[in-house]
Amino acid sequence: MGRETLLTILLLLFGGLAAQPLALVPRKPLPEEDPRIAERRAWLQLWLPVAPTLVVTAWLCGWALREPDPVRARFDHGMLIAASMPFALVALRAAFRAIWVMVREPAQLPICTVGLLRPQILFSPFHARTLDEGQVCAAWAHEQAHVRHHDPLRIWLAQIATDLQWPWPWVRRRFESWLEVLECARDDEARSYGACGVDLAAAIVATARRSSPTSQPRRSWWSTSIDVALLGDARSLQMRVARLLAPLPEPVAAMLWARLSDPALLGMACATLSIVVALGAAYGNTILHPFLVWTWAV
Ligand SMILES: [Zn+2]
Repeated sequence: MGRETLLTILLLLFGGLAAQPLALVPRKPLPEEDPRIAERRAWLQLWLPVAPTLVVTAWLCGWALREPDPVRARFDHGMLIAASMPFALVALRAAFRAIWVMVREPAQLPICTVGLLRPQILFSPFHARTLDEGQVCAAWAHEQAHVRHHDPLRIWLAQIATDLQWPWPWVRRRFESWLEVLECARDDEARSYGACGVDLAAAIVATARRSSPTSQPRRSWWSTSIDVALLGDARSLQMRVARLLAPLPEPVAAMLWARLSDPALLGMACATLSIVVALGAAYGNTILHPFLVWTWAV
């Protein structure tokens, strides 16, 4: 069998097997805390089950760097292909949904932030005329917080990570909980930049009234908006407005992991995966060939 073909099959098989055990573990709801810290925690928890898959992927890629093409070891092609099929379906579904989000029209929302690589704010002039100046500034500050954190890209990536853990329902709920706390975190950031909580609450309610049910952003992973994740859930909307009408809580001291920026985390992940690639290149044959021979023997 060709090296790349076998690599693809092994990526699906071992990558899927690595993701599912941690996806099976339900996690307790997040305690009440500073939304900016809770958002970081929820974001990392979305990725935790996918981390073993990334490690396995890096290790197999390292193995493939030194494996001759075609692979000479004797092994049971049918067994490997059959075992990888369920994970291939999960990966195909995730890829299709990720592509679909990119090619379809973004949801028509009165105000939202769109764009994966270069996010920009779209503000309907018709909607802006229904708001006073303070509300416009508050809504703009909220969307600027989304832009600063590249939230459309983060939501798109989080959706892929969630889809790779399909079909467990609590994984989807974890994603939606993260979306809710993401909005609260951006509300607090907008207020810390000078936006008035009352004005922001008024802008959110006005936007919720103006948005049609067909444009509910909960189903839009391409765009974010001040009402994202809230239009379909009155309880969340009430909670968010109540938070905005209360004084802005004092920021609590975050632990080191919560203070790390996304580029810093990405750099650490890349460094770790590079080491794993090297380990795969060094020891891949020693570990993988006995496994391949075993599939032939059984
Ligand atoms: Zn928002």
